Amino acid sequence: MADFKKASRTELVHGGTKRSQWGELSEAIFLTQGFAYDSAEQAEARFIKTEADEYIYARYGNPTVAMFEERIALLEGAEDAFATASGMAAVSGALTAMLKAGDRVVAARALFGSCLYVLETILTRFGVEVVFVDGADLAQWEEALKPGAELVFFESMSNPTLELVDVEAVSKLAHAVGAKVVVDNVFSTPVYSRAIEQGADVVVYSATKHIDGQGRTLGGVILGSREIIRGVIEPYMKHTGGSMSPFTAWVMLKGLETIDLRVRAQTASAEAIAKAVIGHPKVTRVSYPGLESHPQHELAQRQLGAGGTMVAFEIEGGKEAAFRFCNALKVILISNNLGDAKSIATHPATTTHQRLSPEQRQGLGIGDGLIRLSVGIEDTGDLVADIQQALDVA
Ligand SMILES: *Cc1c(COP(=O)(O)O)cnc(C)c1O
Repeated sequence: MADFKKASRTELVHGGTKRSQWGELSEAIFLTQGFAYDSAEQAEARFIKTEADEYIYARYGNPTVAMFEERIALLEGAEDAFATASGMAAVSGALTAMLKAGDRVVAARALFGSCLYVLETILTRFGVEVVFVDGADLAQWEEALKPGAELVFFESMSNPTLELVDVEAVSKLAHAVGAKVVVDNVFSTPVYSRAIEQGADVVVYSATKHIDGQGRTLGGVILGSREIIRGVIEPYMKHTGGSMSPFTAWVMLKGLETIDLRVRAQTASAEAIAKAVIGHPKVTRVSYPGLESHPQHELAQRQLGAGGTMVAFEIEGGKEAAFRFCNALKVILISNNLGDAKSIATHPATTTHQRLSPEQRQGLGIGDGLIRLSVGIEDTGDLVADIQQALDVA
């Protein structure tokens, strides 16, 4: 895309703002389901064709939600966006809106549990064929795409092992057989994403994560060309009910004002933590795309230009040692969320990935000693010290 451009910090503060006649400084929450018309003729005209900044019902659109959609589209460098009630409303909405019975999907195997459920259990029930590949292996993508496909789906950075999928290379392979590319970009974050420029047709986010960034509310967003968003996604979302609430949109707008500052600070701390744990005698493996030791470091630099806000590492001693580590943490909290201002430690084998069989976990590189850290905005020194003292206890 020749005119690809990401929002500046200025646009993250001001972009998409719509002011009422009161001139409010902070964006208003238009907590309304409906809109009153000046006349019956105006109502009729709006139902024939709704222009920009005209609204008829909150499931179809709302001024606060539209402000969020404009601002996140600026950040992503996308033409348009549709805001959804949660990240899963965005993933399931995008996939269902774009697919029909008889279509074939090729997807990366390492997926967020609910994404896997939608592909494996729901879409197949409606006659969609789903094929899984190892997302980091381009030869597997090429082979799986040979018979053709209508859609390709993957998480650009996998949970919890932080493996990357090459957006540009996979998009080229997909487009060569006429498949559309849908990328779940949560771990890459909209701050570092250039997925549209690199070939993705649609990018989805759980806004619950870095976009809110302070652990308050669920939300999601689907981004892409105006043709796809308004022609394919909007008709599906507005009739099936997964639209974002105005209150949520306001929280997310406020999140976008600070997302660049937060994510860059979180990334700096994540890098410091990765460097601090790499030499620790109890740590057998560290996965951080910002480290040269990461097998896809070069791809991470090219694709994102940064290592991101997540760090994964394996502690010697399996589940017992991992639990001792978690229980010894004083600043970092034990939870399963991510992208929050508060740093969070997760033990994937017993929580987020508990339902997988030990063999499946092994296949995805999720050992019993694996810890996933979502790095927050606390002082870097406090976080490093907390991890070091907890590793000593582990
Ligand atoms: C959290 C998450 C989702 C789902 O988002 P919700 O807002 O919880 O519905 C989807 N994909 C990835 C990669 C996630 O981390």
